[in-house]
Amino acid sequence: MSWRSAFGLIPGPAKILAALAFVVFFFGVFEEYRASGLRTLIGLAGGTLAGAYFLLAGYVYADAVRRGMPPIPWAALAVLIPNCVGFVLYFLLRKPILHPCPSCGRGVAPDAAFCPRCGQPQMNMGPQPSREES
Ligand SMILES: [Zn+2]
Repeated sequence: MSWRSAFGLIPGPAKILAALAFVVFFFGVFEEYRASGLRTLIGLAGGTLAGAYFLLAGYVYADAVRRGMPPIPWAALAVLIPNCVGFVLYFLLRKPILHPCPSCGRGVAPDAAFCPRCGQPQMNMGPQPSREES
């Protein structure tokens, strides 16, 4: 997956939060460094980090949805565990992306033999089961 399509996956509210976090860090938290020439540099770095944090949280949310995982607990876990451990855990434990069922369109796990909603056999996914001798 390219960075552009990953960015497109991030929900709008997460992008707005990321922009807000950048502004707050740039103009608010680092106001105390006003006297020093480092202020702009520190504000830029801190704001970028804060913005990236919200973008990543938004990505985890959207990515969990398309993998059939509960999105809110995973996004909360990714944000709340310090030092980005939550994000690392998410990327280690996430499930494969669901494929749409050809019959009803619901997401089906790639290793599932049948659609859990309509029972349609998922013939085009994975290795074909060998036919039984009769
Ligand atoms: Zn189906």
